[in-house]
Amino acid sequence: MPLEAGALARLISDSCGLPFDGRRLTGANTFQIHPSGLPVQNTFTIQTAVGWRNVEVSFVPGSFAGDFVRHMGLADAGARTSCAAVLARCLRDGASVNLKINGRPARPDDPSGWDGEWSRLELSVRRGQLDLGNGDQDNEKIFAWTQQVTAAIVALLPLEQDDLPTENLHGGFSEGAQVQFEANRYERDRRNRAAALAIHGCACQVCSSDLGDRYGPTAIGLIEVHHLIPVSKLGPDYRINPATDLVPLCPNCHRVAHRRDPPFTVDELKKMLFTR
Ligand SMILES: [Zn+2]
Ligand SMILES: [Zn+2]
Repeated sequence: MPLEAGALARLISDSCGLPFDGRRLTGANTFQIHPSGLPVQNTFTIQTAVGWRNVEVSFVPGSFAGDFVRHMGLADAGARTSCAAVLARCLRDGASVNLKINGRPARPDDPSGWDGEWSRLELSVRRGQLDLGNGDQDNEKIFAWTQQVTAAIVALLPLEQDDLPTENLHGGFSEGAQVQFEANRYERDRRNRAAALAIHGCACQVCSSDLGDRYGPTAIGLIEVHHLIPVSKLGPDYRINPATDLVPLCPNCHRVAHRRDPPFTVDELKKMLFTR
């Protein structure tokens, strides 16, 4: 089934914790999503162009987005770490990443060299040599690449975290004080969650369960994100790296992980599941 722009926007909204609207350009295999309820000209569009054997996803700032980009440049070191971790994943997945800050090329995977003040930002990620033309599998690739770029951008957004809607962030479990504490923290810092899902995907790292595969479209992207080092053990200045500190876990594996303090590791959980 061809991908609908609305469906793409919903998937991205769920994985990034920020609502997006989507449209498909008429006569072209190109999708555009932008943050719901915000003026496009003052913010941005994420554009995904699907070619014969490639996907190119671009950050397109609005005509009057100078202020917005300037604020993105003020994002703290943790936000830059998240953004760079996602872009590093794009590079590892064989994409070419074009990042220009203030008109000058910048290393996508190393934020230490990024300018402090931003007046212009260009970002596009292009993955060629894709095996397209396989219906639903195409949709997954279009989603995955759009998700990567959106997560990289969302990491830098100048948003008041308390103003964001809190639905769709986690799998809706309400028991377990430890888990709940962790979930609350994610409500305050969803950029790391968005980055972790972009980097690790939406399948459980222990049992490989993908709720979307198991339950169908209603459950696509439904997954929880777990701290490998318990939140309570992180110092206040610790910069979470979503590539190495966070893993997606299904609600079952996540609950079992927290049956011990410190939590069971991914390897320990795998052993429980597969070598009993
Ligand atoms: Zn699992
Ligand atoms: Zn956890």
